[in-house]
Amino acid sequence: MNFFPDDTSSLYIDGELRPGSGGTYPVSNPATGKEIGLAANGTPEDADLAVAAARRAFDDQAEGAWSQDPAMRARLLRALHSELTARIEEIRELTIAEVGTSYTMTTGAQMQDPIDGLLYWADLAENFTYSEDKGEAELMGIRSRHEVRREGAGVVAAITPWNFPHQINFAKVGAALAAGCTVVLKPAPDTPWTGALLGPAAQAAGFPSGVLNIVTSESNDPGERLVEHPDVDVVSFTGSSATGRKIMASAAPTLKKVFLELGGKSAAIVLDDADLAAACMMTAITCTLHAGQGCVFTTRLVVPRQKLDEAIAVTSDVMAGIVPGDPHDPATMCGPIINQRQLDRVSGYVDLARSEGATIEFGGEPFPSPTGGGYWYTPTLISGLDEHSRVAQEEIFGPVLAILPHDGDDDAVRIANDNPYGLSGAVWGTDPERLERAIRGMRTGTLSINGGQYFGQDMPFGGVKQSGIGREMGEAGFEEFLEYKSIGYGT
Ligand code: NAD
Repeated sequence: MNFFPDDTSSLYIDGELRPGSGGTYPVSNPATGKEIGLAANGTPEDADLAVAAARRAFDDQAEGAWSQDPAMRARLLRALHSELTARIEEIRELTIAEVGTSYTMTTGAQMQDPIDGLLYWADLAENFTYSEDKGEAELMGIRSRHEVRREGAGVVAAITPWNFPHQINFAKVGAALAAGCTVVLKPAPDTPWTGALLGPAAQAAGFPSGVLNIVTSESNDPGERLVEHPDVDVVSFTGSSATGRKIMASAAPTLKKVFLELGGKSAAIVLDDADLAAACMMTAITCTLHAGQGCVFTTRLVVPRQKLDEAIAVTSDVMAGIVPGDPHDPATMCGPIINQRQLDRVSGYVDLARSEGATIEFGGEPFPSPTGGGYWYTPTLISGLDEHSRVAQEEIFGPVLAILPHDGDDDAVRIANDNPYGLSGAVWGTDPERLERAIRGMRTGTLSINGGQYFGQDMPFGGVKQSGIGREMGEAGFEEFLEYKSIGYGT
């Protein structure tokens, strides 16, 4: 039995809900480990059908067709928002069950904010200036009136992960549809329903056939097919850096545009004039939210060497108060880990730290399940790590914080930057000049100063270095799905 009354165990291709060619596969609740229903098991052949439908829908360039009609796009995105809003409590229940996210997070970034973001994309679709008159120019004796148009970039393959599935699905699908593209969404194997529910919702909203297509699958194969497919113009991917590298390579033969949102190992640096307790508290809370399964969470806490002991004591105290709990409980902020493989990965990193002589200041072991099953890990603080060790350098994707000492502002920035990733970061301090110097020094795509919130619908989001290429969200995220067409009119 599925949660959503319509069919979340179907693919959505060319306007129709249809079975997966690979049958169905079980979906599990990470909080209990129990099977909760079925999802459609799409295959590469299903991906082909979805691309063909999206191609037909995009290639219709007649007046009033999807790519040509921003007003229709805005209207239908608002209709999709209404459909989803009408069933928000069912979607919430499905999201908590499938993702293991806490109820509280569904009221924000895990569900409500991205669904409401459809209205932002609708407004952008309607209000964006798609054509600009650049006046006249003369080249080689020919006078021309110049116009620059912006038009949808084509068929988009949106490939998404399991940790914040609504947020990432909507950042891609909402923006791409608003820009006049057509889309094939390939959700993560662990979280198919948050993607699949868009099928019946888009159908009810009256979307034209082929504009949005959804292929869920227990394997990565349909995603691989989308990346290689010659009829896909843009791949918008969020996931691990390892997969990002593969995707870039597989997309190369067909030279398509590749947009990547990848991993992170972000640092919160605390200058010696900062409110140390506030910095430690906020970092402990953010790195354990959703059991630490967030690419932007700061998972390295870099504190003044002379305050290291105090920082360890405060952070441990805060972690002691963060008790993983049933996601349905409104007090829960730290829930389960998505699956056994991910739990093993988290345990493996902590064991590695131990074996390398680091000190586990708090936690360091699986957490006894509050629900009688599922995958749980105790918030964990590790000190004494070599800053170049794997545990201090690699993304763990669990509630694990590495604490490292620094010897001054520049050293703190150096440690923050001495990592292949550059997705987010935080700076804590008081003196505006020292803060400004640190802001300039930090090589990241997003940055929080003294607990400030940088994430928002109108804020471009993405990373530098090996955290990704391009931006989503905001106008920059919309423009990723547009191409320029420069036109000269002879007189
Ligand atoms: P993943 O890379 O294993 O999978 C992500 C998606 O890619 C899934 O839908 C998967 O089926 C698909 N996929 C896997 N291999 C593929 C291939 N060769 N070709 C095409 N598609 C393929 O990542 P995950 O385990 O689902 O998510 C966790 C990772 O995602 C973490 O590393 C995390 O940091 C990252 N992440 C990044 C951001 C960001 O915005 N930067 C956001 C969330 C998660």
